[in-house]
Amino acid sequence: MSILPIYLYGAEVLRKKAKPVTKVTDELIEQIMNMFATMRAAQGIGLAANQVGSLERVIVIDVSDVEGYEEVKPLALINPEILSREGGEEGEEGCLSIPEVRDKVTRPTTIRVKYKDTNFQVQEIEAYNLLARVIMHEVDHINGVLFLDYLSASERKLHKEQLDKIKQGEVETSYPVVAMEEAVV
Ligand SMILES: [Zn+2]
Repeated sequence: MSILPIYLYGAEVLRKKAKPVTKVTDELIEQIMNMFATMRAAQGIGLAANQVGSLERVIVIDVSDVEGYEEVKPLALINPEILSREGGEEGEEGCLSIPEVRDKVTRPTTIRVKYKDTNFQVQEIEAYNLLARVIMHEVDHINGVLFLDYLSASERKLHKEQLDKIKQGEVETSYPVVAMEEAVV
């Protein structure tokens, strides 16, 4: 397993819509294992393929270190699709691609999600609260959407200095990253 560098805010790959996976290959399984390793090394609870420079509709999630979510098994979702959304709650979000930037985003509290597992079998689950939030955050990534997109212009302005630093690669992270100028896909 390898730890992959995470693409930072400003990298074009984070703004692209990933393509559906048509079959599970050994390469895809390896990619998923690497994504889990990368997410854990970065102490994240979710990671999308775009964030490691790949445009496949794959996300990985592990919230089992979060209090109250110990029972939730790590999930790899291929071609995830949100079937329904209910409720709404404000919660703070961050992103491994946008270090040190956190802000509040209102999202549905209950979702139904359809996806394919690593055997390419269709699965359907209901997710609540934090798990629902993480899934929606990661599904946004494979659609080229970032949590910053939900903020108002004035809210975004408060993060401008840090965002400029991130774009220039002037951030210190505990995990390997790729900044905009090196990010060629
Ligand atoms: Zn993110």
